[in-house]
Amino acid sequence: MLQWFRLYGDASGAQLNLVKCKGLWIGVWKGRSDAPFNFVWSNCNKINGVFFGVNSTFNNCSLLLHKVKKCVNMYSGRNLTLFGRSMIANTVIAAQLWYIGSIIILPETLITAINRCLFKFVWRNKIECVNRGTLTQPAENGGLNLVHIKTKLASLRCAHLKQLVEGSQSNWTAFAVYYIGHQIRDLKPEYAANNRPHAEQPSAFYVEVLNALKQYKIINKSIKTSDLNAKSAYKCLLELESVQPVIEKKLTNVNFNVAWKAVSNQVLSPWARDISWRLLHNVLPVAAHLYHLHITRNATCVYCNWPETFAHCFYSCKYVRSLWCIVENWMSNVTGQPFVVTQDVALYLQNAIQNTGHLKLFLIACAELKYAIWTQRNRRKFEGKHPLTLDIERLFLYHVRSRIRADFVRIDSDSFANLWCTGTTALASVAGHCLKV
Ligand SMILES: [Zn+2]
Repeated sequence: MLQWFRLYGDASGAQLNLVKCKGLWIGVWKGRSDAPFNFVWSNCNKINGVFFGVNSTFNNCSLLLHKVKKCVNMYSGRNLTLFGRSMIANTVIAAQLWYIGSIIILPETLITAINRCLFKFVWRNKIECVNRGTLTQPAENGGLNLVHIKTKLASLRCAHLKQLVEGSQSNWTAFAVYYIGHQIRDLKPEYAANNRPHAEQPSAFYVEVLNALKQYKIINKSIKTSDLNAKSAYKCLLELESVQPVIEKKLTNVNFNVAWKAVSNQVLSPWARDISWRLLHNVLPVAAHLYHLHITRNATCVYCNWPETFAHCFYSCKYVRSLWCIVENWMSNVTGQPFVVTQDVALYLQNAIQNTGHLKLFLIACAELKYAIWTQRNRRKFEGKHPLTLDIERLFLYHVRSRIRADFVRIDSDSFANLWCTGTTALASVAGHCLKV
């Protein structure tokens, strides 16, 4: 055999480096201990980043877990919001799995271990306040868009099937048709032809592929080849794993469809969105909530002596109530009608504003005010400071001003004018290249 390589090398100039050559014993030869051609021979080898041979599952799992833990360590020191962390979890941490996960079967224990790392990272090693099944839902359903590993792997199997059905020229398709040609006859009838060999049982990998297809068919009865791409498959398969947010069952009078849509709106700044999202799920550590969970004995507000419930902390406390008048004035000014911010509107963003420009302003004002209230409340509670209504107002206005200045630079003049320069006494005015806030 080496003679053939030598002949090819003489003609093409390419040389085989015999010192670096490695051999993999497979099948009945996996116990052999001799070393033909002076190669390094073993029964487990790494080819293109994936281990093959004896103990390959263990080696692949150790490699993946090591990579995931390394990424978690790299990003856990950063001060990120929940949405920011889930984005890093999707694009950096879980992304380590997809290459190996799409070609071999990852064991259940590894997926459990990686999920533990992922959720610990998202919650900063603290208590997980919201159900894992809810977090993997899209933001419009109350989740964080966090990746659902099992569903994602199943969607990659669907994408593999798509390649097969579309008729790839690669050699592997012959094996694939041998294993599952019969079972996918509704997608590609010629693969079930009797002049081709067919296996009695599919291999373990193709059993997984067929399971993914079966799951997909529960949602999408008349499946077509074009539906088999990873994105559509993931979206459909995720519906099978959906868990309704607990809060929706507790507060039945609130329209959460509106609330989730509002909080997932891109106009909100990251930290303001974070506070609003936690408030919607009722998982912010206000004193009455902690008292209810037997974590603290003091349930009173940091400003007055009323029990600090979610509604009291963000709306009805006498130190906070007057601040909502600022938002009411702004909204009355831009809409031209009297605008009243009720408790449900303030806490759960239940609004009836039709104009999208005004809705954006309302959402920004609401979220920034809640963020300012929460920041000053924490300063008073944990830092020994004594901020009052005026300090909350100053912080709120500071955030809004910074936001207007940032928007002036980053968005186009029409959108800016629509958002900030409407109403009789607009929040901002533009004269030439100058901005007046
Ligand atoms: Zn109070």
